[in-house]
Amino acid sequence: MEEKNNYQVLLYYKYVTIEDPEQFAQNHLEFCNSLGLKGRILVASEGINGTVSGPKEQTEKYMEAMNNDSLFADMPFKIDEASGHAFKKMHVRPRPELVTLRLEDDINPHDLTGEYLEPKEFYQKMHDENTIILDARNDYEYDLGHFRGAIRPDINSFRELPDWVRENKEMLEGKQILTYCTGGIRCEKFSGWLKKEGFENVGQLHGGIATYGKDPEVQGQLWDGQMYVFDERISVPVNQTEHVVVGVDHFDGKPCERYVNCSNPDCNKQILCSEENEYKYMRGCTPECRVHERNRYVEEHNMSQDEINERLHALGEGESQAS
Ligand SMILES: [Zn+2]
Repeated sequence: MEEKNNYQVLLYYKYVTIEDPEQFAQNHLEFCNSLGLKGRILVASEGINGTVSGPKEQTEKYMEAMNNDSLFADMPFKIDEASGHAFKKMHVRPRPELVTLRLEDDINPHDLTGEYLEPKEFYQKMHDENTIILDARNDYEYDLGHFRGAIRPDINSFRELPDWVRENKEMLEGKQILTYCTGGIRCEKFSGWLKKEGFENVGQLHGGIATYGKDPEVQGQLWDGQMYVFDERISVPVNQTEHVVVGVDHFDGKPCERYVNCSNPDCNKQILCSEENEYKYMRGCTPECRVHERNRYVEEHNMSQDEINERLHALGEGESQAS
């Protein structure tokens, strides 16, 4: 009998001054490698943000070592059980910022941030009439799952969020604004920025969706769909009481929670797509992407030009020119 969940995936961050991020990153990579962990960790002078996977025992050792370091003594970890690694490699990278907001004046969450709301408080405040729930993540994260009634900023990356808020100021003015993100790190800065912009009533989901879904009392209630994660799992469940699918297939609009990358390597867009449609459309998000000369779907399946033409013909699309 094989043991199933003997791995763990850890998600964590801490805003704390790290004197020499370059040196720290180098030492930390060696440490992670010595434990056999895999994952992605960002280190900046403002702190650390990481997600790593490994056998349970090794991840426990990692957490113990981190909590024994005075810099990270009180750093919380969100822990998911897993059946294997969630990453292929181990990276520790020095970066100018932990999350890329590129604000004209940077926000230090220790000086200015929104009110921390524990899962139960967040859940209760979601019911208030004057509340606006604002998703602080990217559009493709929202599309897979989000809090019921949350607003989806039309942005492709976090750094576009401040401009989006300024353009949509009227919608937010005078409201109680609740922000949330995966693990909480983006909201630390974003909610602080909102306060600086003059919004007074700003709350952030402490510990993010990852914590909310595990809270024994709220059990992820009012979350629809799945949570997008930045590792090989791509999606994880949140709501333990019901499962409402909100994702829709890129091609036919049917309910779908399966993300794939467009087969055109120059496009690489993430699209929700069933296995059936992946076959039909050769995983290309547009007619142009489908006939791209380095189409990865075509390469993976070793398709001949005849086979490609047949697939395109079935879609009523012009046959690609055989060169
Ligand atoms: Zn594409």
